Amino acid sequence: MITSLAVPEPENGSLPGFATIFIHPNGEKSLISDIRIPKDSILCGFGSRAILESPNYLTLQVELRKHILLFPEVLQYINHSCEPNVFFDTTAMQLIALKEILPGEELCFFYPSTEWDMDRSFLCNCRTGSCLGLIRGAQYLPIETLTRYRLTDFIKSQLKSVGVGQE
Ligand SMILES: [Zn+2]
Repeated sequence: MITSLAVPEPENGSLPGFATIFIHPNGEKSLISDIRIPKDSILCGFGSRAILESPNYLTLQVELRKHILLFPEVLQYINHSCEPNVFFDTTAMQLIALKEILPGEELCFFYPSTEWDMDRSFLCNCRTGSCLGLIRGAQYLPIETLTRYRLTDFIKSQLKSVGVGQE
């Protein structure tokens, strides 16, 4: 079943109307690209509908005790992959394409790129060659693994504060 996406407010040079919500038979939702998105482009700006002190399965972490519910809300349907194609830059508050994305591809981000310690761990089933299995947040991953990914300034500062970060 396909539901058309309420187009996020175009801002910060965003690409308006770039994706569609796909609802799986089990009720899970994904965000599927409608267009070709060049690498490094800004898909949209984002903000918060609410700010929480503790994480839940929908929040995005921006600081140690600051977890946001995403605005536009549809961005919460961007699922995890161990080979992500988008990145939530929580400093610029922009959703960035990490690689070229083609029409029909699911938008995915790497949860530990923003999350230090997740509320709910889960066993990843992304079926990519680099799948890490259990996903619990950045603090549980070896630095050699994390450095393969683009990480938020918050995660980088956390790594530094625990003595494993390197700039
Ligand atoms: Zn995976």
